[in-house]
Amino acid sequence: MKVIIAGGAGFIGSNLTDYFINRHATVTVIDNLITGKKTNLEQWHAHPRLRFIETDVCDLDISVLPKADRVYHLASPASPIQYKKHPLMTMRANSTGTERLLEFCRRSGSQPFIFTSTSEVYGDPLVHPQVESYWGNVNPVGVRSCYDESKRYAEALAVNYQRKYRLDVRIARLFNTYGPRMEKNDGRVVSNFIMQAITQQPITIYGDGQQTRSFCYVDDMVNALAALGDQEKLSETIINLGNPHEITISQLATIIKTLTGSRSKIVTQPIGADDPKKRQPDITKAKRYLNWQPTIGLETGLKKTIAYFQNHYRN
Ligand code: UDP
Repeated sequence: MKVIIAGGAGFIGSNLTDYFINRHATVTVIDNLITGKKTNLEQWHAHPRLRFIETDVCDLDISVLPKADRVYHLASPASPIQYKKHPLMTMRANSTGTERLLEFCRRSGSQPFIFTSTSEVYGDPLVHPQVESYWGNVNPVGVRSCYDESKRYAEALAVNYQRKYRLDVRIARLFNTYGPRMEKNDGRVVSNFIMQAITQQPITIYGDGQQTRSFCYVDDMVNALAALGDQEKLSETIINLGNPHEITISQLATIIKTLTGSRSKIVTQPIGADDPKKRQPDITKAKRYLNWQPTIGLETGLKKTIAYFQNHYRN
């Protein structure tokens, strides 16, 4: 099998690359290394079935790509700190970048095209848990808009390619995901709290900590993305992927403090604009159409993530 993974040197992308190399696929990774890292793929250095193309997906010369059995598009900054730092690049990766890959798929006959969208398309949701049919509550000009609106645009682009060219398009809306290869300083809550806990720094809760999130371990997410590509035919185009176990950010701080045996104090800091108050995926569709559901509980996943952080980022 031939697989193309745009963003394959990033956190989820590199775990997905591992998955396919381990299953004897030939993988072409496209990454500009803005937020991805070559070291995430160093275990495959000079591997005959991994080809790495260092380029921005927007500037991709699609004539150099092999026809593929599936094309994943994960190339975008994904943590709030990163996309706020690179707002225009984020918008380009999801608009021009998505169009380039869709054009490649259309011209070469490579399909399915699997786009990793986000729970952020639901904005600060007024429907809970979030079902795929919910249109969302997004601030189109807010600080998160570079990410959520460009993902919404990419979804619209992909479904219109599907309508116009009958391209097999599949859209995964990923909810918060954590695990090994998260960047220690990408600003996400799990990486922040673990780093703070293992270095005995204050654990920073933004706001009152009553906002909720639902955290999915990366291996579960990778299995879901693989299952999404595996289906012969899929009558549903858009599928939420995530772990429905919902907790408050305060609870998360306490769990991480306990699991690390940290002496860190838990402190509060002002919350950023447009921070969603709650988020929980409805995964009925993923269960029905992909026969998938998460299997790794929060404590188990956090223990593995903490071990990775202790081994890689402690010094
Ligand atoms: N958060 C926090 N402390 C931190 C980092 C994040 O309290 O050091 C909060 C953040 O305000 C948000 C939640 O944790 O409510 C999840 O943030 P993250 O950046 O991981 O992802 P988001 O779900 O907001 O995209």
